[in-house]
Amino acid sequence: MYTQSIITKRYTTDIKPNTIKEVKKHVNMYILTLLFVIFNRTQHIILIFKITYTYLKKQKTMRFGRLKFSVLTAIFALLIAGLFACNSKQNQTENKLKESALLIIDVQNDFCPGGALAVKEGDKIIPAINKMAKEFNLVIASKDWHQDSTVHFEKWPVHCVRGTKGAELHKDIDTTLIDKIILKGTENSDDGYSAFEATSINLKDFLNESKIKTVYVTGLATDYCVKRTVLDALRYGFVTYIVTDAIKGVNIDPTDSETAIKEMTEAGCKVISSEDIVK
Ligand SMILES: [Zn+2]
Repeated sequence: MYTQSIITKRYTTDIKPNTIKEVKKHVNMYILTLLFVIFNRTQHIILIFKITYTYLKKQKTMRFGRLKFSVLTAIFALLIAGLFACNSKQNQTENKLKESALLIIDVQNDFCPGGALAVKEGDKIIPAINKMAKEFNLVIASKDWHQDSTVHFEKWPVHCVRGTKGAELHKDIDTTLIDKIILKGTENSDDGYSAFEATSINLKDFLNESKIKTVYVTGLATDYCVKRTVLDALRYGFVTYIVTDAIKGVNIDPTDSETAIKEMTEAGCKVISSEDIVK
């Protein structure tokens, strides 16, 4: 009887006078957690942990029942914080790519091994391109699309003549992920290196209409069409990335790709790898 009355007394004391105060404390902690999570900064998560730790330390002097409740509350708050932080990070990546387009430059048979103007290991970039294409809402592939006779062929072997096998996209490119195919080099009086010189579409206007702010450039070849596309993209005000493991150069001079990358970065292009885009 005596023990029972003590328990009852303790229980009653626990609940009654401090209930409102306790609830207030916990509510404060939830609000703090939510506020910090909204801003989603690692240091805020650490701060939550510190606040919780200090709070629990204070509770050490109190009775077990209340401490247990506090521990559970803290764990719950941290779990929620973690969950929100993960979601928020995912959303940030999604939002980042929402205003971005992936440009796949000329990954055609004639520029791949066995083609008329093959880029060494040109096909090796395809897995990285396919992997990235899944992450973008807008994927645009350009095709070199020459006439039988053009001034362009005074500089280069005949390649990517419209309608031929050599002008088709490489079979490993996942065309189901491509939203738009654009044609360039279609006239007989120009080279049409840049995707912004496409004649089937005005690429600059199309990107602006699609609310695209950033372009990620991949494809062939680093020292010609990729470079010219990147320089045009920068000139038209797009934030521009080259994806280092998704481009390959012709390298008539072995250092051509290196020189091209230097020229692009000096013009303001950023360098990224596909792994930085798709974890
Ligand atoms: Zn060409």
